[in-house]
Amino acid sequence: MDKLVTHSCQQDMALVEKYARSGPRYTSYPTAPQFGEQFPVDSYLTEARGHHLGPLSLYVHIPFCRDICYYCACNKIVTREPGAAQRYLTSLRKEIAMQAELHGKRRPVRQMHWGGGSPTYLDNAQVTELMHDLASHFRLMDSGTREYSVELDPRTTAPGAIPLMKALGFNRVSLGIQDFDPLVQKSINRVQPYKMVRKLVDEIRHYDYRSLSFDLIYGLPHQDSITMADTLQKVIELKPDRIACFNYAHLPERFKSQRAIDRLTLPLASDKLQLQWQIAETLQAAGYLHIGLDHYVLPGDDLAVAQRAGNLQRNFQGYSLLLADDLVGMGVSSISQVGDCYVQNARNLEDYYADLARGELPIHRGYLTSSEDRLRRHVIMSLICNLSLDLASCQLPNGTSFWQHFGQESLALEEMQADGLVALDENRISITEQGRPFLRNVCMVFDQYLNPPEAAANTPRYSAVI
Ligand code: SF4
Repeated sequence: MDKLVTHSCQQDMALVEKYARSGPRYTSYPTAPQFGEQFPVDSYLTEARGHHLGPLSLYVHIPFCRDICYYCACNKIVTREPGAAQRYLTSLRKEIAMQAELHGKRRPVRQMHWGGGSPTYLDNAQVTELMHDLASHFRLMDSGTREYSVELDPRTTAPGAIPLMKALGFNRVSLGIQDFDPLVQKSINRVQPYKMVRKLVDEIRHYDYRSLSFDLIYGLPHQDSITMADTLQKVIELKPDRIACFNYAHLPERFKSQRAIDRLTLPLASDKLQLQWQIAETLQAAGYLHIGLDHYVLPGDDLAVAQRAGNLQRNFQGYSLLLADDLVGMGVSSISQVGDCYVQNARNLEDYYADLARGELPIHRGYLTSSEDRLRRHVIMSLICNLSLDLASCQLPNGTSFWQHFGQESLALEEMQADGLVALDENRISITEQGRPFLRNVCMVFDQYLNPPEAAANTPRYSAVI
């Protein structure tokens, strides 16, 4: 067994060296760097008014955090200023009313997600106020297939928040765990002892939420195979339905808080690969299924069922069920996907407040997709969600076959096939077991906007693939 493991890791290491580059996580295609500031907001208004019937998905962004986690690359505002949340909610309420007016109040909201920052920055009264506001403008559902989820920070979840959120309609929660080792937690400035998390998990189970997700990160300071084994054992004991494992990208030039992390305490690239492999082995041995891009779920979880049925999707919140036609993002920096448009709100709080004070939607960037974008999006999303692509499902320009249209791409894929990452035939592209850690690389073959000189220079717009 040991020999096999060593051989497999050496092989993987050679592949990592060959394919190491930065790349998008494909929560959209085209990805956010393609969104332009010259985007005509009228295009979004037209798209929104043209889609009056299908179900909606809502995303609500709460940008505040009480403390900074050093590794964090999210768009957040660290503050303890009294009144910051209330001022934000006042503007958010205006945006909710404007978006509801635009999309019509009859579309059923089958998905909703509150993210951040930290939604648990809000106190219980503010959480109630915000949900009531959403309910009075949109058609929220209290039965049937729906996914209403919220991100919880175990350190700031207020007493009484778990029963309250359940009563307000949330049926899924995700917890930012990252790692249970005390030294790792201290070095990232996120101390949340196992006992605290266990108590919260017990409460979540008591209130019968439909699913519980954990976020973990590998590649953090002081992590090694021993700390990871201990963290994974604790995770398995708590048995979340879903586990997302993110690869930490150390980009201190870009994210100031990461400068507080001592580079010398970070695992090397080869150690990171071992950690990734250890996570995959341990979680799969514990009965989790690997659904793609470092996401693991229990076999009975809705995401596993959706993947088997071909109904899994990927959007700005990661993997989710395909339940809605359009996604409306509200709050500073949030992104909407409506019809053929992507739009993003102001990323800075002052601009966000100023636009809403003038009675305007705070849209600052956007992108109108072409038919070629939509074809490539279908290919990328199918690979990332289903781990395969049925070539017959692609809407190609008249008279062309898949391999004619993607002639250039086929050369890169043939090389990946020779390396054992993909299997190709006339009808299908499939990601092999060995190719799973390189899923992003396979998707990148179809990304028209990644230009090779920039990728070669490893411009750090995206995180490292491995
Ligand atoms: S990781 Fe989450 S809680 Fe920590 S600073 Fe970033 S957004 Fe805030």
